[in-house]
Amino acid sequence: MTFLDYAPAPESTSILNLKPSYGLFIGGKFVDSSGSTFDTISPSTEKKITTVSHATEDDVDRAVKAARAAYDKTWSKLSGSERGKYLFRIARIIQERSRELAVAETLDNGKPIRETRDVDLPLVAAWFFYYAGWADKLEYAGLGPNPQALGVAAQIVPWNFPLLMLAWKIAPALAAGNTVVLKPAETTPLTALLFAEICQQAGLPDGVVNIITGAGAAGAALVSHPGINKLAFTGSTPVGRQIASTLAGTGTKVTLELGGKGANIIFDDAAIDQAIEGIVSGIFFNQGHVCCAGSRLLVQENIHDDVVHRLQKRLSTLRLGDPLDKNTDIGAVNSKVQLERITELVGSGEGEGATRWTSACAIPEKGFWFAPTVFTDVHTSHRIAREEIFGPVLSVMTFRTPEEAVAKANNTPYGLSAGIWTEKASRMLAIADKLRAGVIWANTFNKFDPASPFGGYQESGYGREGGRHGLAAYLSPSDQKAGGK
Ligand code: NAD
Repeated sequence: MTFLDYAPAPESTSILNLKPSYGLFIGGKFVDSSGSTFDTISPSTEKKITTVSHATEDDVDRAVKAARAAYDKTWSKLSGSERGKYLFRIARIIQERSRELAVAETLDNGKPIRETRDVDLPLVAAWFFYYAGWADKLEYAGLGPNPQALGVAAQIVPWNFPLLMLAWKIAPALAAGNTVVLKPAETTPLTALLFAEICQQAGLPDGVVNIITGAGAAGAALVSHPGINKLAFTGSTPVGRQIASTLAGTGTKVTLELGGKGANIIFDDAAIDQAIEGIVSGIFFNQGHVCCAGSRLLVQENIHDDVVHRLQKRLSTLRLGDPLDKNTDIGAVNSKVQLERITELVGSGEGEGATRWTSACAIPEKGFWFAPTVFTDVHTSHRIAREEIFGPVLSVMTFRTPEEAVAKANNTPYGLSAGIWTEKASRMLAIADKLRAGVIWANTFNKFDPASPFGGYQESGYGREGGRHGLAAYLSPSDQKAGGK
């Protein structure tokens, strides 16, 4: 042990009270699936956590029917303030059970406990509190005097922020008066199943929230079910495209939150040490599994060497390892498949001539890991400059003038996020105005707030989540009755 090594500080898993297997949560109860089962594993140890179910088409049908019945018989009959009471109750239970939920998320996803404890869980509770407050104020949402719920909302979420993405979807849907069927990703179903228990604990009327687990086939069955009025999807662009084509012309309202290749732009007047922290949180937070990650670093040419040197020095201090250890900065990659994707793209970066630097940290024997990596000498034509890597890998490019920075930042088929680092507020505003991205941060990165709308355009999808805008996705602007499919 060297002088500055940290002693291990593992968070205990004894707070978890998991069942050996989980069915589906339909109509307020855990029921058996008519399909097969699969194990959910911890990506840091490859050990089984519990067994979950593959929902079949019949199961999806049962869940949609349960959501419809709950909508018709109970949820649509409640006043906004009554719905709000349930949401406030759920928010408080999430706070009470936050340590347990953080441990479960870290175990199932691989992200550090420091992040689940200090970022994911506080935001999950904040999302429910925020939308609970909206439930009895829908006439102020900007959609006319008497906006109406849509009916049954089908919701599909990815594995990178499992419980947070659930909160982004379920909180506004329920506040607006819809009932839901939600499918978590196949590698991270655990916190959605614990959330089902929280719905029971909160006394939420049966069928208002239904959780079905499974892989892409279960998601596809949900998308094509004729009984849904709304589809909200967060995930990859190819699957989003498929969903858009399945639902085109059906009248089902669709929100797509897809991939990104965000530019983080550093001008030579920026506070460099502060910018280094922003670069780190922009791409190495959550192992880089972040749709709005600042995965392309655009540095003004005259400060390139200094920034890269300071960044490498800072990255060398990040600790990779057991995500349940409170000292860990970089956890496990979520799955073997994702690790293979990252490895393949990093190989392409080397093959195409970019210069690779990887932090010299020890990699645990078991589990899926990728050390923080920085590519310099990157050209805009390289795959690592164009494709979403979704891992702890940064592609560094340079620019000389603000115009060149904007042109390079916008040279992407995506349009989700961007960051600007400069001392001058006038420059921030002028550049932000020209960037084609849904969310732009200045002198910070990866900051989220339930009151702030989030979403992209081009291949990053359409629709907004968060804020008043996020309600619009679950409301019809007129007095029309909700679609009774
Ligand atoms: P993915 O598209 O493979 O899977 C996302 C979800 O869709 C999972 O639940 C999966 O089971 C389901 N699914 C897969 N095939 C389906 C199909 N044919 N029909 C219906 N559902 C299907 O994406 P992923 O690899 O889990 O997640 C990573 C992607 O998500 C990245 O591209 C990332 O940028 C994106 N993402 C976007 C946002 C955002 O807000 N824009 C947020 C987080 C992640």
